[in-house]
Amino acid sequence: MSRFAYVNGRFVRHGQAAVHIEDRGYQLADGVYEVWAVFDGKLADAEGHFARLWRSLDELRIDHPMSEAALTIVLREAIRRNHVREGLVYLQVTRGVARRDHAFPNPAVPPAVVITARSVDRVAIEAKAAKGAAVITVPENRWGRCDIKTIGLLPNALAKQAARERGAIEAWFVDDLGLVTEGASSNAWIVDADGRLRTRDTQANILRGVTRLTLLDVIAQAGLPVAEQPFTVEEARNAREAFITGAGSLVTPITSVDGVKIGDGTVGPVASRLRALYIERARAGAI
Ligand code: PLP
Repeated sequence: MSRFAYVNGRFVRHGQAAVHIEDRGYQLADGVYEVWAVFDGKLADAEGHFARLWRSLDELRIDHPMSEAALTIVLREAIRRNHVREGLVYLQVTRGVARRDHAFPNPAVPPAVVITARSVDRVAIEAKAAKGAAVITVPENRWGRCDIKTIGLLPNALAKQAARERGAIEAWFVDDLGLVTEGASSNAWIVDADGRLRTRDTQANILRGVTRLTLLDVIAQAGLPVAEQPFTVEEARNAREAFITGAGSLVTPITSVDGVKIGDGTVGPVASRLRALYIERARAGAI
């Protein structure tokens, strides 16, 4: 089936879609991105992702390329044209195209926008999630503004590759104090030895995960004990359960850290329940 991408105002065949060689995203990683999960052809956690997009752009002083209403229409069109019922939609906004210079273009140029959408096989993903997955740990080596969802992802890409080479799906960054910050493309959680859900607070240098935020609400409604508090790798090893959250991973149970089993090494009841509750919530709230 043909795929289509949105590039600076028009839909083009995915295979032919291209950006200018002097796009500042390409040369300087001067841009931001967002990813929405798609359920039933609709955008999940739409508001949270829009809010974070505007914030990321504002923090980097990149103009908003269009209004939220207009962007919603284009995202939905990307979903429709690519026949996505279950999947992901990716948006990237860069500072635009200008002669290479580290400082911002003067006068400013319009931001450059790319959108792609693709389907995922939810049945296969569910089967995988039911088995759980491994994570490894790597030293935190990212810049101090991980709250901004920038396309500068080299440390994340290297961490993810290290994970893949060790049979893991994710790498958890660990700071100088031995505390887990987050994953290369997800937030990190445990059910600690006392049965409390734990995830790092967003005062730390991490991305404010939209899935994390929705899940905190789901957890509150379910009446489960939770603390936005960091945990060490040691605590993760001794945890009852662990899982990761993100628009791609949703809520994915983790059964080992650096090859050490968590609990009895199988998917725990809390993680699998939260996965089901999160998906139910996201599907119901998708627009
Ligand atoms: N942390 C990082 C570094 C990420 O890249 C992501 C998602 O891509 C997340 C956390 C999870 O964020 P969200 O739940 O908004 O997808």
